[in-house]
Amino acid sequence: MASRIPLAVPNIGVREAELVNEAVASGYVSSVGQFVSEFEQKFADYVGAKYAVACASGTAALHIAMRLADVQPGDLVAVSDFTFMASSNAASYQFAELLLVDSLPESWCMDVAALRTEIERRAATGEKLPKAIELVHILGQPADALAARELADEYGIFLIEDAAEALGAVWTDGPLDGRHVGTIGHMGAFSFNGNKIMTTGGGGMFTTNDASLAAQAKHLSTQARLADRGYLHDQIGFNYRLTNIAAALGVAQLERLDSFIARKRDIAERYAAAFTGTEIQTPPKLHGQESTYWLYSVLVPKSRGTGARDELQDFLAETGIESRSLWRPLHMQPPLVGEATLGGAVGEDLFSRGLSLPCSTDLGEAEQDRVIGRVLDWLRLESVDV
Ligand SMILES: *Cc1c(COP(=O)(O)O)cnc(C)c1O
Repeated sequence: MASRIPLAVPNIGVREAELVNEAVASGYVSSVGQFVSEFEQKFADYVGAKYAVACASGTAALHIAMRLADVQPGDLVAVSDFTFMASSNAASYQFAELLLVDSLPESWCMDVAALRTEIERRAATGEKLPKAIELVHILGQPADALAARELADEYGIFLIEDAAEALGAVWTDGPLDGRHVGTIGHMGAFSFNGNKIMTTGGGGMFTTNDASLAAQAKHLSTQARLADRGYLHDQIGFNYRLTNIAAALGVAQLERLDSFIARKRDIAERYAAAFTGTEIQTPPKLHGQESTYWLYSVLVPKSRGTGARDELQDFLAETGIESRSLWRPLHMQPPLVGEATLGGAVGEDLFSRGLSLPCSTDLGEAEQDRVIGRVLDWLRLESVDV
């Protein structure tokens, strides 16, 4: 049997080992140490944010953002409905109520116009407005951060960008030309989990252009401990700081990030060339923005019926090709039943038909051709059945 092709594996090299060894040898293994501040500085420079605060995870960075947006029990937070559940967990930790906003079919990201209509309606009737909007850049694809920022500013709402999956995604035209995702809102969050485009094993980054928010984020991430010789804490904080060992890994990965993104885009281009003109729907590609194609994901044709996504996944698995379903939308998650929703049909469709294909940064062309060949075989097989 042919060798197994995993969905996406981290790319860890000699530079990573070198810097991690350096961190270990320094004796600073926990959150104090030169790599943490070096990683923050280099990361901020990379994405073009004024400040970056290294956190234990992307979820931790989002939770800190919710705290800094002063989200209190019963407050409303508008979140993209089609996303990984960590996005809303951060709001749920603050006992927020959610407003789950469906995606646009063309971007797979939040329909900001629908949210605007709802906020205008709520404002007119005196209903509760969101305290924060959490905009998710899904699978490496930039969401409409400009429209979201305008909406947020108009109503005095915090805009938090969940850029966990989209490090390196940029706008290439229009008012945001040259800007990175995660730097348009008041606060942004990135993830360095093992499966993300770069990894620190586990980790995240909080970004902002506001000096006060940055200082408060760092303070909250270190148990809200004040610089006092006795242990003095001015509020309930978190143990959310990144460790020096993880940050060393981050510094090394950041040096290689451009090459990872270039590989993801090459892979995406080859897949797109192979699937264009077939019934397989390729991921969004919109003018004026550059996705990183973190997990290259396609939609199986509607005409193949409801079980088609699973059938293709099983068909790929028979020859050792790993693939993965896209996320079940938040409004379908048992703990979130009853939360307010705006639409939901687009997310349900993406969930029922979406499949992520192998796209490790070291995926070879021969392996990619095996994936392509197998997907095309499946298309033919199905049409014979019909
Ligand atoms: C991965 C991810 C997170 C959480 O990041 P962790 O570092 O795993 O906590 C948040 N939001 C989205 C959209 C993600 O994909």
